[in-house]
Amino acid sequence: MYLDDKRVRLAAFDWLNQQISLHGEVLPRALLQKGFELDGRRVPLISAQQGIFKPAVLAQIPLSILTVPGSTYDDHMGPDGLIRYSYRGTDPRHRDNVGLIKAMQTGTPLIYFYGVMPGKYQVERPVFIVDADPATLTFKVAVDDPAFMDIYARKEVAIGECDIERRRYITATVRQRMHQAAFRERVLAAYREQCSLCKLKHAELLDAAHIIPDIDSGGEPVVSNGLALCKLHHAAFDSFFLGIRPDYVIQVRSEVLREEDGPMLIHGLQDLHEKRIILPRSRMHYPNANKLATRYEDFLAEEAKGAA
Ligand SMILES: [Zn+2]
Repeated sequence: MYLDDKRVRLAAFDWLNQQISLHGEVLPRALLQKGFELDGRRVPLISAQQGIFKPAVLAQIPLSILTVPGSTYDDHMGPDGLIRYSYRGTDPRHRDNVGLIKAMQTGTPLIYFYGVMPGKYQVERPVFIVDADPATLTFKVAVDDPAFMDIYARKEVAIGECDIERRRYITATVRQRMHQAAFRERVLAAYREQCSLCKLKHAELLDAAHIIPDIDSGGEPVVSNGLALCKLHHAAFDSFFLGIRPDYVIQVRSEVLREEDGPMLIHGLQDLHEKRIILPRSRMHYPNANKLATRYEDFLAEEAKGAA
């Protein structure tokens, strides 16, 4: 027995919105595999095996597409700014491929799960199949604004040219977000989800800070240009209250060391002076010494300005 396609889809998007407000835009695989219940039926959002996924309650059109971790987002970006997604296998008539063609013909919204690291997926929704090429076995996928779902809930939507242009624009802006999400997940995992200065362990209070500001390097987010820092230490690092030497030792700015104030200043900043930061388990993830050196020079310059 199938349930009404639109109802299932809207329920899935609602459920996703709730999960995102609880956990952020990167969700764990187990949660997505479990999904939610509708009319006593379980609706998973992904499966363990397939990239193109249709839960049993839907008749024909898939609910989601998924990219496994390991590739970079740019691998999936075409020169036209639209996402490339491969057919399942080599048979265009496979039911998963036929399902996505149907999604394209009907303008049906789907969910895209982009694997940022094993077991963790960045969510983009809604996405639409806008082109299908059986010769290269490739779909083109565009992202739209989540607000589109309000329109979808109210009526049947015809896809006009302006939608395509808007979606192309939105899809292009998604790239930076994907980079940021992947960077954050990888850096926090490398540091076992703790601040590398004070060991604070609440992920909600942690950031992946860049050692060298990454103004769209275009490259893959590299853990060795990152540090897991709590909000306080991220801000302190960015505004040169402290610096980290290439030998991983923290230097607190001399004016700050001379200040007298409450326990937050003492424990939060002054006590860190001359301490070594907490390093990732894997040497490959250690902060890059050259990048630390460059950043430390900036710190010294700022300190000299303060002393002058
Ligand atoms: Zn901290």
